[in-house]
Amino acid sequence: MQRPTELWRTRLDGMAVVATAHWHRLEDGRVQCDVCPRNCRLHEGQRGFCFVRQREGDEIVLTTYGRSSGFCVDPIEKKPLNHFLPGTPVLSFGTAGCNLGCRFCQNWDISKSREIDTLGASASPEQLAVAAERMGCRSIAFTYNDPVIFMEYAMDIADACRARGIKAVAVSAGYMNPAPREEFYRHIDAANIDLKAFSEQFYQKITFAKLDKVLDTLSYLRGTDVWFEVTTLLIPGHNDGDDELRRQCDWLMEHLGPDVPLHFSAFHPDFKMRDVPPTPPATLSRARRIALDAGLRFVYTGNVHDPGGQTTTCPGCGAAAVVRDWYDLVSYAITDDGRCESCGHAIPGVYDGPAGAWGRRRLPVTIA
Ligand code: SF4
Repeated sequence: MQRPTELWRTRLDGMAVVATAHWHRLEDGRVQCDVCPRNCRLHEGQRGFCFVRQREGDEIVLTTYGRSSGFCVDPIEKKPLNHFLPGTPVLSFGTAGCNLGCRFCQNWDISKSREIDTLGASASPEQLAVAAERMGCRSIAFTYNDPVIFMEYAMDIADACRARGIKAVAVSAGYMNPAPREEFYRHIDAANIDLKAFSEQFYQKITFAKLDKVLDTLSYLRGTDVWFEVTTLLIPGHNDGDDELRRQCDWLMEHLGPDVPLHFSAFHPDFKMRDVPPTPPATLSRARRIALDAGLRFVYTGNVHDPGGQTTTCPGCGAAAVVRDWYDLVSYAITDDGRCESCGHAIPGVYDGPAGAWGRRRLPVTIA
């Protein structure tokens, strides 16, 4: 397949666009984007639900290639990934738009942006790889908004990074069709998938998406080499009931096994759900208890100070292998090749040498 970067062109309005591959023409004259289950059917000039993919002529183009809403070096634990190169810095960025419509979006200024001004920063894949290397980042993360919608840019960045030994991380809602998903994840080393709830009703009313498509992605990832963890943002009164949490954890156990890390993180009122209170810490602890009782071995609370709920316990001997406080590593007892220092039991994840010492810092950076 021709690589998207070979298909650069600049439009009369000065915007750089790239051709994309996952679409087909319909008999009624519209063109359907096949990247995600929304399957937008577009007339000439029309943009998809995500805003960044657009029909131009008889094809779909990506209008945000090479553009970003800004860059930051974060701790990898912020993605959150607790079992992937712990303690290391990750160069993080997003673009604009999103293919979900979450009413509670915690990054809505980026994901709902219709303003190209949001994309003030620009960088080529090579510039990003060089910058990540210069700043000592072990990985680069596509985050803040969903990389599904800018997959051509993300894949080219991942390739440029891999050529320098830097890994690629996707933070995604997992709402993607099978063919583009297979292509996308061939370029990705680790992912955090947002499982927003465990009811079709929640997905349809609050995210304008479908739960079964996200579960398909989780099942797909289980059969790949991509390291992945799962996050659920608990929203009081909407997705935090005992029964729903039990069903979610039972599904994860049955389809992904006991070793997939699960993060329950705290919601803060935002976007169109400002009338809902923040998540009480007790709700996070209750959810964690339910998940542990279901048999999941690595369950974490997030967006709170809770060292007990953020500790990795060795399944072999019960020792505290990693104690965390928010994004800080308080203590670390895993060998360079990923084994418990006390008993030698393998701790699932990706380990390569000692833990990093980046801490909780968040460092905004300019690339170009
Ligand atoms: S990626 Fe965007 S344009 Fe394509 S189907 Fe999804 S929302 Fe529509």
